[in-house]
This record gives sequence, structure tokens and C-alpha cells, in this order.
Amino acid sequence: MPVLVMKFGGTSVATLDRIRRAAKRVGVEVAKGYDVIVIVSAMSGETNKLVGFVEETSPLFDAREYDAVVSSGENVTAGLMALTLQEMDVPARSWQGWQVPLVTTSQHSSARIVDIPTDNITRKFGEGMKVAVVAGFQGISPEGRITTLGRGGSDTTAVAFAAAFDAQRCDIYTDVDGVYTTDPRICDKARKLDKIAFEEMLELASLGAKVLQTRSVELAMRYKVKLRVLSSFEEQSDEAGTLVCDEEEIMELNVVSGVAHSRDEAKMTLVAVEDRPGIAAGIFTPLSEAGINVDMIVQNISDEGHTDMTFSCPVNQVARAEKALKAAMEAGNIAFSELVADTEVCKISVVGIGMRSHTGVAAKMFKVLSEEGINIKVITTSEIKISVLVERKYMELAVQALHHAFDLDKAS
Ligand code: ASP
Ligand code: MG
Repeated sequence: MPVLVMKFGGTSVATLDRIRRAAKRVGVEVAKGYDVIVIVSAMSGETNKLVGFVEETSPLFDAREYDAVVSSGENVTAGLMALTLQEMDVPARSWQGWQVPLVTTSQHSSARIVDIPTDNITRKFGEGMKVAVVAGFQGISPEGRITTLGRGGSDTTAVAFAAAFDAQRCDIYTDVDGVYTTDPRICDKARKLDKIAFEEMLELASLGAKVLQTRSVELAMRYKVKLRVLSSFEEQSDEAGTLVCDEEEIMELNVVSGVAHSRDEAKMTLVAVEDRPGIAAGIFTPLSEAGINVDMIVQNISDEGHTDMTFSCPVNQVARAEKALKAAMEAGNIAFSELVADTEVCKISVVGIGMRSHTGVAAKMFKVLSEEGINIKVITTSEIKISVLVERKYMELAVQALHHAFDLDKAS
């Protein structure tokens, strides 16, 4: 029998009634002849609540016990989903991560999947079981302790199962009906995409589009898992949602497929650092040791053997970054005349595979921003992405103007 993976996020299993609706959808796929692996998240809000319990009990918590507690939300929904399916006369049973066993590394709270043996579940399918309901987000370490895969990790569980079982497709049911050209809350002309290439989705996910965990997209790309994002709240056809797929499957590649934004960024500049080998390492080593997520980096040549070094990071890490850099200066590892933090910036990015073969995208982006009177503070590019830092108060305007200029607006 062909295997289908169906993943239900927290809002899709938030109540017994929603679990019933999700189970009905599973029943439809079973009736089509699929053996189905259902991956469930915890009921919405549940994981946050469990994280809160842990933090309140023990501020410097033991990560192994954190995982033991926060993984439990998925156990509840897995059992309830199996029971609901049984009530509908669909042969189903639940599996916790360790029962599969889904083996991970020992990095508690952000473990990586190492292995998913398929024999247990395949044997059950052979004995007439139609649905294996698996608790998402969790696994077992080589030491035999429960692990979790990081927030949003059920997406990664789902894609990993689809790869391991060579599933026909991995359907991610969520509370939005697909992947959009930009955030519909910022731009009312945002349009749902029918298809998006893995690489574009990867850029959009890491730029803050929360619909899929970034690692799940990486895995899908590596194993060529056909991923579909769709709503569990609407009636579905086979074409519903957005298909995340190989670029070969997309007829006409967009030059730009999406405009992403990240609101809470900061730009930090070290003024007049020495221009000599080892200075960049001297700056970014203490930052990485302090856990700062440095994003863009620009070095400007200034005069007399000195240079300015600018980088961006999340705004809530500015104080920690300042502390790390001042400590490095006091230790005599680096020297700078001034440290300037601009905490009023945001990042705007345009993403599209078609950029590889089209020139002029950057020029057009800069022109559009200038016509709106928006000053660009930092620019970075990759093969399929151009990002700029601009003043945060222009974020909505910049997104809307770029969305329009790159012909992404929905037909009205
Ligand atoms: N329940 C977990 C979380 O909220 C995992 C998931 O839902 O993907 O992060
Ligand atoms: Mg999620």
C-alpha cells in the first residue's frame, strides 16, 4: 500500500471536536487506499504551558527533564487521535517516539534525528492496522533518555517519517491555507502560492515565515519529499494548499516568489577597529560564545589602517552583544573607538529562484525603496535572496511597495 504522512499542528488538534474533524480527514485518505502515518503536535498552547511549568520549577533546569515534561503534550494528542479513529472503526494505534524508536542525538531540547527504523510500523500495517499515530517533536537518545527536536519540531518529525517510509506525500495541516507571497497581516494583497520551490521555502522559513520549521524544509529538500501545506479548517480538494517541491516541477519560475520581513532587528557598528588579520575573529568569536545570532556582516574600509565593522542581530540580544564586546576590549583582544547600536531597524528580503537567471532584481528593489523615500542601511545578497535593513517604521510600506513592484499582488 502507498504510504501518506499527515501532520496536524496544535490548532488542528486543539479540542476533541477538532481532533474528530482531523480524524475524519484521515479516514478519507484511508478510504482511498493509503496506509497513513499521522503525526500530531500538542494541543495549541500546551507546549508553552509545559515550558512555563519547567521554568517556574527550576530556572536552570536539567535539559533532560525539560524534554521529559515538554514532550508529554504530544503523548496526549497521539492517544486521543488513535481512540477517535478507533471510534470511527479505523484500525489505529499510537506510538510515542521511543516506541518507534525515533533515535536522535543527545542534544536535549534541540536534538537531531539519527534514525527511524520502519520495521515495527510496517509489520503492523501488514497485520491490518491502517493508521499509525505518532507523537511529533520527540525521540530517544542513544542513552535512552527522551529528547525533543526544538520548537515547531513536529514538522520535522513528519518529513522524516515521509522520507523513511518513502511516502507519496507529506501533508502539513495547519491554520493557514498555504504559503503566501508575504504576510497577509501586513499586505492585504498577499496571495497564496500554488507551488513553491524547496530553496525558496527554506529562505522564507529561515527569514521568519513561521509556517514550517526550517529543518523540516531542509530534510524535505534533501530527500525530495513532496510537502503540502494546507488548512485543516477548510474543505479540501487534491489541489488545495501550497505544494513545496523541486524546482523542476514548477513550470514558470518566479523571479521573485515572496517578500519576507523580520521586525525586531538591530544594527551594531564597531567604529575604528584595527584593519589587520584576526580582527574579525576577535569580534565574532566572543559574540558566538555569548550565543548572539549574528546575521548580516559588513566591513567598511576607513582611513589610516582602521575599519568599521557592522553586523546585525536580534534586538533583544543587543545588551548581551555589548557586554561580550566590551569584555573582549577589556581583555585586550580587540580595540574600537565606539560601539553604536541602532535598535530601530527591520530586515526586508525578496526571495526567488528566478533571480539566478534574471539580472536587475537588486537594482529594482533599491529603486522601489528609494521612490518611497526609504533609506537602506545594510544590504546582503545570496543567489536567490536580497535582504536590506531599513528603519522599522517603514516596514509595512516597504513590504507593500516591493510586493506590488514585483507583480505579486493578487488580482482584484
Ligand atoms: N508542540 C511543539 C511546539 O509547540 C512541537 C510542534 O508543535 O511542532 O513547539
Ligand atoms: Mg508549527
